[in-house]
Parts: sequence; structure tokens; C-alpha cells
Amino acid sequence: MYDIIIIGAGASGLIAASQLKNQKICIIDKNQKIGSKIKVSGGGKCNITNEYLNSEYFDGNQDFITKTFSQFDNISLLKFLKINNLKTTLNEKIVKGTYFCNSSDEVISMFLMLTKHCEFLLDCEVLDVEYEHNEYLIKTSKKTLKCKKLIVSTGGLSYPILGATDIGYKIGQKFGHSIVKQNPALVGFTVQKDQFWFKELSGLSMNARVTIGNKTLKGSLLFTHKGCSGPVILSTSLYWVKGQISIDFSPEKDSYLPKRFKQAVKDMDINIHDYQMSPAGNFGYTKAEVTRGGISVDEINFNFESKIQKNLFFIGEVLDVTGELGGYNFQWAFSSGYVCGTKLNKS
Ligand SMILES: Cc1cc2nc3c(=O)[nH]c(=O)nc-3n(C[C@H](O)[C@H](O)[C@H](O)COP(=O)(O)OP(=O)(O)OC[C@H]3O[C@@H](n4cnc5c(N)ncnc54)[C@H](O)[C@@H]3O)c2cc1C
Repeated sequence: MYDIIIIGAGASGLIAASQLKNQKICIIDKNQKIGSKIKVSGGGKCNITNEYLNSEYFDGNQDFITKTFSQFDNISLLKFLKINNLKTTLNEKIVKGTYFCNSSDEVISMFLMLTKHCEFLLDCEVLDVEYEHNEYLIKTSKKTLKCKKLIVSTGGLSYPILGATDIGYKIGQKFGHSIVKQNPALVGFTVQKDQFWFKELSGLSMNARVTIGNKTLKGSLLFTHKGCSGPVILSTSLYWVKGQISIDFSPEKDSYLPKRFKQAVKDMDINIHDYQMSPAGNFGYTKAEVTRGGISVDEINFNFESKIQKNLFFIGEVLDVTGELGGYNFQWAFSSGYVCGTKLNKS
């Protein structure tokens, strides 16, 4: 019997575990190694947070996000990393305010050190959870485990190749939680017939400003063989379900338009400052960095415990909080995990 079982050895589960002391803890993960998304993130350098942290860079309950960051924000995270001898560097080449680590491996090594007091059950998939006589029964592909408290840090549906499953949502549903519809986010758009000219520009990247609803995003746009991508489009996808977006291909007064672009639009009757288009769709969960939607935080307390089911906690991407591109999603995973871990430790 464990005091606490954590399902998911990703960013949120690992930081929560690092804060739990004097308890018998087991961390279960489907992968053979911990931190699989940390490993591949930021081109192997893990874009861990952002200088400009604010709930407006997130899709989700603004009040809940703000309250979470008031307890553990980007400054707290950078301090936490520094105390643990991890060097971070501000690199604004692609997205403003982004902090990177020397290497993702250093982050993983740090968490291996900080979770030495925990048992790990890796290469093991959680299949179901039951609650009987004030205990959780965790049914896995290897064996059934028991615990008093359960932390669900199973992430979203993106990148099934890195271990993603829908078990977190299933556990939520089983215990009566509402799930906000999930969609792939931080992903490129596929286009309609009217944008087939994008194909000619495949590989070209240029600065653009995109307006979607009341949001305006700026950054690099990449034309691809089947649509468009690049930082500004990835962040736009966080707010898009269907309908039009407007692209300004020349956002600065003295913007220089690439020759290839000028050539491609030469005979077309388009407004380059307000190019309206409705994406056909997106490239789906195999390419999406994150999953928008998830377990509604309306039924979650500020210590990340379920309001419906006692001793059940949800942290990280499995919740209905999703950030733009630029380190915001790790920040959310670390903030929610840290707050949950420290509060549980005190209770
Ligand atoms: C390619 C890529 C690059 C990214 N780069 C960045 C970046 O640079 N900066 C940034 O902020 N964000 C980045 N992200 C997003 C970020 O990785 C996630 O938002 C973050 O990892 C979420 O943390 P989490 O702990 O909630 O979930 P995860 O890190 O996804 O961890 C969940 C864990 O649960 C395990 N699991 C799932 N189901 C089961 C099951 N049934 N049984 C057992 N274990 C299970 C999974 O194997 C996984 O290890 C990137 C994502 C991808 C896919």
C-alpha cells in the first residue's frame, strides 16, 4: 500500500513527487524512461518557461491560472532550477521571452535526483482505477497497486508515440468530472483550395501578424507543402476551432517582403495586410505539441484536489489549461505540480 501514487512521470508528476517527503510514493509511467516530452522539447534544450508570464497567454479559466501562478510562477521556477544547479538562458530568436536549458537531459537528471525517495514502475500502462474502502486500486498492465491518494499527471493526447493515452480523462469521467472537449493545439493548419498557392512557397518563412477573434499574435509563419505552420500559426491554433483568421503578411511599416512571396501573389487580388482565410483543419495529434481542453478546473480545488472525489488530484496538461508556444505549457505543468506537491506535503 502506497501513501501516494502518481500516474505519469512527465513534468507535472515529477515536480509534484520532488516536493513530497516522508511518504511512500510510487510513480507509474508507460514509457521505459521518465520525462519523454522533456527529452524532445525545445529541440533537445527544453524551452522551460517565459519571461512574460500572464494568464492571457493561456486558454482556460483565467482566475484559476492566475491563482496558481501567484503561488509558483516563472521566477519561482527559475529559482528552483538555479538551486538545483541548472543553468537557463534567455533566447528570443524565435519567440519573445523564452528560457531554454543547456540540454533536456540535464532537466531529466535533476528530476532523477529529486525523486530518489520514490519508487518507479516504468514500462507499465495504467488501464483502470477503482475506489473501494477509502483506497484506490490502480490496475496496470503489470499488476494492481493500492494507494491512499492518487495524483493523475497523464498529460494530453498529443504525441501518442511518446506515451500519451486518454486514461487521465477516463479517470476524471469515472469519478464524475466534466471534460472540456479536447482538440490538437500548437499545430499547423491544413488549407482550403483558395490557399493552394501556399504550396508554391513551401519552406518559406516570414514575419506575420495573425488576428483570431480578439487575439492578435505576431511571429514567424512558415509555408508548408500542405498548409502553414511556424510559431505564429502554432499559437493561433490554440484559439482556433473553425472559422476565419486574418493574416497581415507585412506587419511592420518597413517590412521586407521576400521575393518568392511577391512573385506568388503578383497576379492575385489579395490584401496582404488583411488576408482572410478559414483553415481546413490541422495536422492532428501526431503533430500537435499539446492538447487543448481536458478536465475542467471548475471542479478542482486550488490544491488540485478534486472537489468531487476526495484524495484524487489532477495536474498538468490533463487539465483544461493550455498555453501558447514559448515555454508556457511546461510552466503550467511545473506550477500545478509544485503547488499540488507542496500542499499535499503539508496536509
Ligand atoms: C514535441 C514536443 C515539444 C514540446 N516542447 C515544449 C517546449 O519546449 N516548451 C513547453 O513549454 N512545452 C513543450 N511541449 C509541451 C509539454 O511537453 C507538455 O505540455 C508537458 O510535458 C505536459 O506535462 P504533463 O506532466 O502534464 O504531461 P506529460 O509530460 O505528457 O507526461 C505524461 C506522462 O504520462 C504517461 N502516461 C500517459 N498515459 C499513461 C498510462 N495509461 N499509463 C502510464 N503512464 C501514462 C506518459 O507516458 C507521460 O510520460 C512540447 C510537447 C511536444 C509533444
